[in-house]
Amino acid sequence: MPGSSARRTSDAGPGPDETVDRCDLCVVGAGVAGLNALFVAGRYLSREQTVILVDRRHRLGGMWVDTYPYVRLHQPHGMFTAGNITWTLGRERSYLATKPEVLDHLDHCLDVIKERVHVDELFGWSLESEDEVDGVVRVVCRAADGRRRVIETRRLIKAFGAQVVPNEPLELSSTRVRSVSPDYCDVRGDEMRADRAPIWIIGGGKTAMDTAHAVVTGYPGREVNIVAGSGTYFISRDRTLPNGFRRWVGGALLSRIGCELARRFDGVNETETAAWMRATHGTWFTPETGNFLLGLLSESENATIAAGVTDVVIDHLVDAVDRDDGVELLFRSGASRPIPAGSWIVNCTGYLVRHESPYEPYVSDSGAVMSINLRSATLHLTTYMGYFMTHLMFSDKLQQTPLYELDAFDLRRKSNAVFPYAVFTLAQYNLSLLSDALPGSAFRDCGLDPDRWYPMPRRMLAGAQFLLSHRRDREHHRQTLDTLRDRFAIRCGPLPTTPEERSATETADVG
Ligand SMILES: Cc1cc2nc3c(=O)[nH]c(=O)nc-3n(C[C@H](O)[C@H](O)[C@H](O)COP(=O)(O)OP(=O)(O)OC[C@H]3O[C@@H](n4cnc5c(N)ncnc54)[C@H](O)[C@@H]3O)c2cc1C
Repeated sequence: MPGSSARRTSDAGPGPDETVDRCDLCVVGAGVAGLNALFVAGRYLSREQTVILVDRRHRLGGMWVDTYPYVRLHQPHGMFTAGNITWTLGRERSYLATKPEVLDHLDHCLDVIKERVHVDELFGWSLESEDEVDGVVRVVCRAADGRRRVIETRRLIKAFGAQVVPNEPLELSSTRVRSVSPDYCDVRGDEMRADRAPIWIIGGGKTAMDTAHAVVTGYPGREVNIVAGSGTYFISRDRTLPNGFRRWVGGALLSRIGCELARRFDGVNETETAAWMRATHGTWFTPETGNFLLGLLSESENATIAAGVTDVVIDHLVDAVDRDDGVELLFRSGASRPIPAGSWIVNCTGYLVRHESPYEPYVSDSGAVMSINLRSATLHLTTYMGYFMTHLMFSDKLQQTPLYELDAFDLRRKSNAVFPYAVFTLAQYNLSLLSDALPGSAFRDCGLDPDRWYPMPRRMLAGAQFLLSHRRDREHHRQTLDTLRDRFAIRCGPLPTTPEERSATETADVG
């Protein structure tokens, strides 16, 4: 740990090649959620206290380090940050930052955080286990070459996020197609440019849209098809984040949309809720739109993709098999489609719900370990969780605030259709509790807030509307979440507070 000031000893029973570092806070996960946690912790810790930041990746940035090279932010860049740290890019506010720009900004965020708190970085180390003994959390980390390292800390924040890792190419029986993953094959590169073979994009979410946009604009006139699953709609960036004078008089603040959506959703009416959301704030080009993953798309991106794509198939690809005269795509519905040999099959099937990690509550019994993950989600986005949950942790209110946690991973697996409305409801419910538990400054300093797009008077009005109604709405949101829990047999509710409740939960887990 070059330049480290973390207190280090070798008297805690480590092995011969093992060191023990001591610190006040250890954050595992150097993505934007971990950086938000660090930003907030920096408001509570003094300069003399030490933080250790650990990540299994070899640099800062989380999933942005190794997802496809042409990924861009889908929201204006200023809203993707740690705390209220401003960008130094110097671009107009609607600019959608590229992957290198996002990574540069996250580096900048850590530099800014380090002005307030001492942070030591440990990259290339995976958290292997943690134990709490006598008010100390003992964290064991492992490097790829097998080295072990122990960190003793007062608090641990595990900011694992959605556990995004690069996607592999789809495994297909055909030897005559070129099955690629955008994470390893840049669709803008020489290989794909070298021929005119059709491109089949498998997936209908953000990666598919980024890929479709890259290929229809990069190779005009080329055959580009999308196998879009159940289809997807996106939030229209033009309607929710308008430019110029419309910021004053048009558009809909995303906080108001969240409130309205959660009011409409009752845990069983996802079809009507989706129809309302799509009609009032959505943009899409697929003939069906069974999915909505909180993604943003502009009307012009949508139109460019729609105009450039040859065919959209609403189905799920199962395999591609070689036939005497070419290749056949096989779909889940039983349908099939002949395609020429040499076609490109690009895996854009998404990153969520790929790798099941064991459930753990968002906070340990002692309050010393907090976990930001999808199995015990408390808000709609991991960035928000990193920010607000760390405020709760350092205000010693993490255990007293009866937040609902949702196994968003399990719910997504069980119902794509319900998932987005469930996480919006969860966010509304818990933001209501958070606004009672945290000072107004915690909300004012949250640079992730998309309402910051709008001029101050409109934001203040939206804030006042929330403050006037959130306690009244809370009971409805609670009932919706309880309905979802019973309907899908998912974990959804407050953490058990008594030993009896805890042991009942543990018994249920084993069952
Ligand atoms: C293709 C794609 C595009 C996206 N685009 C946007 C966008 O435009 N705007 C937006 O707001 N969101 C976007 N998202 C969502 C995105 O995932 C989040 O915004 C955000 O970057 C996630 O940050 P995170 O810190 O929660 O997780 P990550 O970035 O995944 O960071 C978690 C970190 O934890 C580390 N880690 C996990 N387990 C361990 C362990 N045991 N030991 C050590 N380290 C560990 C991982 O290595 C990782 O670096 C996108 C997601 C994907 C997949």
